[in-house]
Amino acid sequence: MAVIGPTKFVSAIQNQLLGKTRKMSATQEKPSNKSAGSNFDAIVVGAGFGGLAMLHRLRKQGLSVQVLEAGTGVGGTWYWNRYPGARCDVESMEYSYQFDEDLQQEWEWPERYSPQPVILKYLNHVADRFDMRKDIQFNARVKSAVFDETTNRWTVTTEDGAAMTATYCVMATGC
Ligand SMILES: Cc1cc2nc3c(=O)[nH]c(=O)nc-3n(C[C@H](O)[C@H](O)[C@H](O)COP(=O)(O)OP(=O)(O)OC[C@H]3O[C@@H](n4cnc5c(N)ncnc54)[C@H](O)[C@@H]3O)c2cc1C
Repeated sequence: MAVIGPTKFVSAIQNQLLGKTRKMSATQEKPSNKSAGSNFDAIVVGAGFGGLAMLHRLRKQGLSVQVLEAGTGVGGTWYWNRYPGARCDVESMEYSYQFDEDLQQEWEWPERYSPQPVILKYLNHVADRFDMRKDIQFNARVKSAVFDETTNRWTVTTEDGAAMTATYCVMATGC
């Protein structure tokens, strides 16, 4: 199986978005820090490794972000897959975030290749440490994402009928 660490995966999406957000600051458009009702700068679908990293990065750039997650908690793969023996086959030092030096220094990996409960604990710790839950809606399965070329905005709807719009829509929905 070809394996790609979450850091590389996230970098790929981030680079795409960074290009857009840099362009935005070059044209002197100011991103809003607060969302107005159901309108956001960015909507991220999924709260796994990829979605949490996107939330962190986009918030740091001053964008208002709403993460929509079908499950009731963060973790993605590591939230859904709880079968005995589930663990990563990449060393946890590599299979973890590198966007914050303090986070890296304070977190202790008890094993070289972590089992699922430890990875899920780590991702919950990250969500708490960076106060991410306030921008995540759980139990929110996205049904559609439609781009309107006249307004240049995405309209994202969830299965319960809620609709929201954003300039950027990131599908961090895994494989
Ligand atoms: C046992 C196991 C071991 C693994 N080991 C490794 C490893 O060692 N190294 C490695 O690189 N990778 C490994 N992986 C792969 C792993 O999936 C990725 O590393 C990584 O966790 C993917 O993160 P992600 O955020 O991209 O997606 P996910 O973790 O899959 O998160 C996607 C999230 O999107 C949500 N979602 C999907 N569709 C919707 C929707 N329509 N609306 C709302 N929410 C939605 C899901 O509920 C989920 O929470 C392993 C996977 C498993 C199962």
